[in-house]
Amino acid sequence: MIYLPKDSIADTLALLKAELLQHSATVTLVAVSKQQPAAKIMQALDAGQRVFAENRVQEAKEKWPALRSVFPDSELHLIGPLQTNKIREALAIFDVIETVDRPKLAVALAAMMQKEGKFPACYIQVNTGNEPQKSGIPREEADQFIHYCKEELQLPVSGLMCIPPVGEDPAVHFQLLKTLAERHALASLSMGMSDDYPVALRMGATHIRLGRAIFGERA
Ligand SMILES: *Cc1c(COP(=O)(O)O)cnc(C)c1O
Repeated sequence: MIYLPKDSIADTLALLKAELLQHSATVTLVAVSKQQPAAKIMQALDAGQRVFAENRVQEAKEKWPALRSVFPDSELHLIGPLQTNKIREALAIFDVIETVDRPKLAVALAAMMQKEGKFPACYIQVNTGNEPQKSGIPREEADQFIHYCKEELQLPVSGLMCIPPVGEDPAVHFQLLKTLAERHALASLSMGMSDDYPVALRMGATHIRLGRAIFGERA
């Protein structure tokens, strides 16, 4: 699906909010602002949107300090892969890290959190489709990895995130994530993007991550 440029981001957000309310009073709309210019993000902020996501530490560092000086109550999620050498920078800027996906990262993250005294909420990214090119802990290792992060490393894990394979029924993947979250008593379920969020809402998403549906196609 192609998303047209939005004349009014405020109107688009109002429509989406109304749609979300029909499903649940508590689902959080995460506005994915990657590759979107600061002017468009500012329109969303002016319209009252406060939760955003970026997929690159570097890009977030370039765009967000200025925006946050105007809107200090905004919240920023990391939804792209995190390299271990970027953890310190990520801790300085992100409130939620949705992409904890491998033991090496989890260990380094736990250590740096202690060192920096910063403890953003962590979600475990699960590669529900076991796709070789995709980030996320493989499905079969997810139980053990979640346990390891929570109990051994004492990471502040509060949710799970997934990106279903293109061309497959997303419902299967959302159900898998939901079952996993229930088994580990994790409250947050970050699932659903512009093309599949209605399915995710039906399946109990607590956070949907919308980029193009809010801002139009990326540059
Ligand atoms: C880009 C991205 C999104 C948003 O995708 P849209 O199709 O623009 O809604 C959501 N989640 C992740 C992890 C992304 O990288």
